[in-house]
Amino acid sequence: MLAELSSLTTALSVAKDLGGALLNERDRQKAAAIQADLTDKIVQAQIQLTQVLGSIIEKDGLIQTLTQRVRELEAEQAEKSRYRLAKIGVVGQQFAYELRPAAELVERSDEPAHFLCQPCFDTGKKSVLQLRGHFAHCGLCSSNIQTEKTPQITHPPIKRVSTWGNRDF
Ligand SMILES: [Zn+2]
Repeated sequence: MLAELSSLTTALSVAKDLGGALLNERDRQKAAAIQADLTDKIVQAQIQLTQVLGSIIEKDGLIQTLTQRVRELEAEQAEKSRYRLAKIGVVGQQFAYELRPAAELVERSDEPAHFLCQPCFDTGKKSVLQLRGHFAHCGLCSSNIQTEKTPQITHPPIKRVSTWGNRDF
């Protein structure tokens, strides 16, 4: 845009000089030549002005796009700061993002406690883990995190029934 502005300034400066020369010229033929040259310079200045305006409009659009992107990133960062990585469950090293305590939240502090799927949240997707029995389930990536030990299935003692005892020999 600086090059276009420089060309525009030069064209306007030349046009001004030609205008001054035209006013002082008494020779009709020379005046007509200066007038033609002046018209040409004015047309050039108009073209360059159009290019400068086009460049300004393009830059303005880019500024709006970048401003919007900055807002999105700030909102994303604010959302991420509402959570902290926490161990979940009692089996192995399983982690999820836990909503921070209400006292640490700047906004929406009345949200109920919940966990988000760590792999999904790291890629910018928010998925609240749903408890299903002994597992926390992610509805987006379908991962299951075991949150409680599976209870041992205890069978009642097997009764050994001897069919021999009732027989008479
Ligand atoms: Zn997930």
